[in-house]
Amino acid sequence: MDLSLTREQQELIKSVQEMANRDIKPFALKGSSKYKEKMLLAMARMNLLCPTVPQEYGGLGLDLFSTALVVEELAAASPGMAAIVAATLHAAEPILLAGTEQQKSEFLPLLTGAHGGSAAFALTESAGGSDLNNIASYAEAVPDGYLLNGSKDYMINAGMARFISVVAAIDNRGKKSSLRIFLVPGSAAGIVTEEIYQTSGINLTSVGRVKFDDVHIMDQQVVKSREAGSGYLLLTQTFDVGRALVGALAVGIARAALEQALDFADNRLQSGTPIKKHQAVAFTLADMATDIEMARLMTWKACWLIDQGGDYSVASAMAKLASSSMAQRVTCSAADILGARGYLHGTLIEQLVRDARVLSTIEGTNHIQRLLISSQL
Ligand SMILES: Cc1cc2nc3c(=O)[nH]c(=O)nc-3n(C[C@H](O)[C@H](O)[C@H](O)COP(=O)(O)OP(=O)(O)OC[C@H]3O[C@@H](n4cnc5c(N)ncnc54)[C@H](O)[C@@H]3O)c2cc1C
Repeated sequence: MDLSLTREQQELIKSVQEMANRDIKPFALKGSSKYKEKMLLAMARMNLLCPTVPQEYGGLGLDLFSTALVVEELAAASPGMAAIVAATLHAAEPILLAGTEQQKSEFLPLLTGAHGGSAAFALTESAGGSDLNNIASYAEAVPDGYLLNGSKDYMINAGMARFISVVAAIDNRGKKSSLRIFLVPGSAAGIVTEEIYQTSGINLTSVGRVKFDDVHIMDQQVVKSREAGSGYLLLTQTFDVGRALVGALAVGIARAALEQALDFADNRLQSGTPIKKHQAVAFTLADMATDIEMARLMTWKACWLIDQGGDYSVASAMAKLASSSMAQRVTCSAADILGARGYLHGTLIEQLVRDARVLSTIEGTNHIQRLLISSQL
């Protein structure tokens, strides 16, 4: 495994950083919908809303490793905007893995180019979160396809997704073997956004509850897993990619916190010297930087394995587990270094602590990652 970045990857990082510093970072804390639209447009102009879409469908055609570099840069500028991209990547992944030519050409171009938008992945329900045997959303077979009924909760990009990749059962027992992934246009009749939540972090995202009321789905809108004939394997493969990208989100958030702490520690004088020169602070900064590098390497390894098509489920779960825990440690350490300023409402560091908090919950909680990893030991 060669860890040196190619010239293209270095240029990609530089161009995303320039855009993010100019068009996202200065507005990220303000959070109003006016700024959000502008930030989305800036990302769309660089074709960053779903960088893994192949060029033939209008995308950048990036592999997952390069996509993780993009997500880290976006997360360092605005975790909320990066989460919009991560959710879109997650929604597109089943199509990239197992979609038909028709599904690719119908849905993927919706996410690309200057007019591209976001997509959503809808699995969680109020009763069925971690338990995939308890999914109540039901797609009942009708002569020309399915009728989808159910309610999905905590969905990122609610109310704004161009399409939703919905996980539902094709029989009413809701067992995981009967799960399938359905591609539903965001404007389809019968979709109602019931509530948009005030979340503690990743504030620029729109997280909500969406109801599907007799939504008509054609047979060609079902993504069929080639290997097993069931959607469950496809679902787990999709999660492997999503989890690796949580690693990139975590690294970006933690990096932003370290930058804040370093800047403060260089300039804050106590006992006549910058606090960075006090060994306790210096060592904390060293631990933070080491922690971030550990998580970045685990994330890169998971993405690299996925790009190679190897056996990557455990690597991906480990990257997610380690990186999300790391981001929570590092953001809290940064807040400590800022002293009282680390406890003020409306500050960047407060936001980063809140942003990091969600990473242990999304894409399967960290308990679930431990279940997955321990089952392979
Ligand atoms: C900001 C945000 C964005 C989200 N975005 C999306 C999205 O875009 N799409 C989507 O589908 N979902 C999304 N989610 C939902 C998220 O994936 C779920 O919250 C998560 O899977 C946990 O489900 P739950 O909340 O129902 O908790 P539960 O499954 O009820 O779990 C509660 C607690 O019990 C633990 N637990 C549960 N089962 C076990 C077990 N078998 N062994 C050990 N511990 C267990 C969990 O780890 C957790 O600590 C989002 C959530 C948030 C907060």
